[in-house]
Amino acid sequence: MTRTLMVAGNWKLHHGPQDTRRFIQLLNADLRHTSSVQVVVAPPFTSLAAAHEALQGSDIALAAQNCWHEDKGAFTGEVAPSMLREIGVRYVILGHSERRQLFLEADDLINKKLKAALAANLQPIFCIGETLQEREEGRTQAVVAQQVRLGLQGLAADELRSLVLAYEPVWAIGTGKTASPAQAQEVHAAIRKLLRDLHGDDLAQRTRILYGGSVKADNAEALFSQEDIDGGLVGGASLKADSFVPIVRAALLASRA
Ligand code: PEP
Repeated sequence: MTRTLMVAGNWKLHHGPQDTRRFIQLLNADLRHTSSVQVVVAPPFTSLAAAHEALQGSDIALAAQNCWHEDKGAFTGEVAPSMLREIGVRYVILGHSERRQLFLEADDLINKKLKAALAANLQPIFCIGETLQEREEGRTQAVVAQQVRLGLQGLAADELRSLVLAYEPVWAIGTGKTASPAQAQEVHAAIRKLLRDLHGDDLAQRTRILYGGSVKADNAEALFSQEDIDGGLVGGASLKADSFVPIVRAALLASRA
């Protein structure tokens, strides 16, 4: 099964609505019709509506960076999956290491969010990855496997058909250090094997597993050409067209390789 590569830009806390409109105009100029690679942008909540409007007629899809797991109620400051769907959001990043570390999100909360997102027809981009210490202790695969198991607990293969995974070694996020293509491929292959063991070959083969962690134009093609790497989740380099567009071009080259 051939998986369409995805390049998703996680803007984190950057680009308000005005910047978003301007930036998406630039992205549309180059990437409006990039059907052989799924391009995704994830602006902050308050820029999603402006982004949706600016993306009319464009193949670039919209992601949120987080959501809550209840549809309504006394949850001050939270946003429900159905509210995101209502304004044209298609994907949601869940389990990002910044949410895990800075906002103390644990695996059971992420599991609830994954279930709620899937139930609302939002496609999760579910992030997993080890810290430097865990890698140095030789625990990378065990840590990542545990995150996958706990995150997906109670979900059946047919509910996971729209799932996207993102392997993001914490030591590579925003640090300029990237996993080598071989290091990343080793973990991606292990994740795919785990998906096969848990949910069968069909789900394992169809699920995109993105790599994230200091992806740049000059390392993207080598990473995306690996057998089990299906594109990238990009932070810093997604904030400007002249660093993001070449990463998408690298994905186009890798998908033809
Ligand atoms: C991220 O935050 O998901 C990320 C991969 O960031 P960066 O590309 O800046 O390392």
